[in-house]
Amino acid sequence: MAKMVIVGGGIGGLAAALAVSRRGHRAVVLERADEFAEIGAGIQLAPNGLNALDRLGLGDAVRARAVHIDELRFMDGVTGAHVASMPLTGTYRSRFGNPYVVAHRGELHRLLLDACRRSAAIELRAGSRATGYRQDGSGATVLLDGGGRATGDAVIGADGIRSSIRRQLVGDGEPRVSGITVYRTVIPMERVPEELRWNAVTWWAGPGRHFVHYAIAGGRYLNLAPSVENGVTESFAGVPVDRERVRRTFAALDETPQRLLALGEDWKSWVLVDRDPVDHWTDGRVALLGDAAHPMLHYAAQGACQALEDAVVLGDLLDDDTDAIPGRLEKYNAERRDRTARITHAARESTRLWHPAGAQAKARNAMLSALSGTDLHDHVAWMHGAHESGSAGARR
Ligand SMILES: Cc1cc2nc3c(=O)[nH]c(=O)nc-3n(C[C@H](O)[C@H](O)[C@H](O)COP(=O)(O)OP(=O)(O)OC[C@H]3O[C@@H](n4cnc5c(N)ncnc54)[C@H](O)[C@@H]3O)c2cc1C
Repeated sequence: MAKMVIVGGGIGGLAAALAVSRRGHRAVVLERADEFAEIGAGIQLAPNGLNALDRLGLGDAVRARAVHIDELRFMDGVTGAHVASMPLTGTYRSRFGNPYVVAHRGELHRLLLDACRRSAAIELRAGSRATGYRQDGSGATVLLDGGGRATGDAVIGADGIRSSIRRQLVGDGEPRVSGITVYRTVIPMERVPEELRWNAVTWWAGPGRHFVHYAIAGGRYLNLAPSVENGVTESFAGVPVDRERVRRTFAALDETPQRLLALGEDWKSWVLVDRDPVDHWTDGRVALLGDAAHPMLHYAAQGACQALEDAVVLGDLLDDDTDAIPGRLEKYNAERRDRTARITHAARESTRLWHPAGAQAKARNAMLSALSGTDLHDHVAWMHGAHESGSAGARR
């Protein structure tokens, strides 16, 4: 039995603790905040994320609480015309083994946390901020702010995009600022005109900007998330912004998306950041997981799904031979590297599809509208479905 010290009690860190405990190992989770909690509204989970949650024993609980989405709907945000829809029912669900859902981020975190609390093999330590790590041939130690330490057979850095473990292990400085600002708010569904209450994740694509919305919290709220490429160079998170500014920024969009945007009141803004993929995220008995390993723009809606997949793959690779841990962590890194790098690039490139203007937008619409539902499923199969290696073990 191995003892894993996991830094970070977000979705990735808790999933990793569960995955290793389900394989008979012990885990200590160190969280810098005074309590284990997660804020935020909706989180989209494609079948690959739910396949990983099934492996952690939480698929049923998440499916029971989530909004099951019927389609991904792509609209021309300037003309208001419907361009294409990818159905997410019927063959999509049977092909990929699960529905496409929107879960409440806090609820998903709570389910993971409750499952960790029920496990005698998992110890949760809040108020524990990691500053770095040390290791020798037989173990690895997390160094804590204030002088404490936590030692185990391995350390997993699941401490997010500004990971302290990554800083020492990879040393690639601050995240890359994308030049894009996203605005977010939620509105009660009863304020949404009935004819716009679609059970779809909807994109309104416009020049240099787009607007996404979908239902959350069992359909009681609509999550609004418009983004603009504005060349912003400094990163910030959760800064309040007035509704008039949001209205002006998206004034070029058609009347229907503008009607929805006008319903938003308490807007906050974030600058989107990510990192260039790296090949190596292990160092002996230390490895990274989730956003600490491969932070990506949220445009592919896959960051949490990939953290869940990481956790399951890691759990599957560990065995009782603690001397073999460095090799197992290398294997975990090798299994996860190409897939997560491909999604990081796909998320960045999505703006090339969403943000063109004029003739290019028309060509894009013609291309998308010619695709059948099956064509669209083929297009996302590598991401939403099972694959040969590192598929969260869903088919193992
Ligand atoms: C706007 C937005 C929308 C998104 N939408 C989706 C979506 O629809 N679908 C999807 O799959 N993903 C989505 N994502 C991505 C997803 O939220 C992240 O990929 C996921 O939360 C990463 O989880 P994590 O546990 O790796 O990192 P985090 O959630 O960042 O958790 C890291 C944890 O480590 C703790 N920590 C940090 N530093 C230390 C330290 N030094 N010591 C101890 N603890 C520390 C933090 O307090 C935190 O609890 C979205 C992201 C954003 C920004």
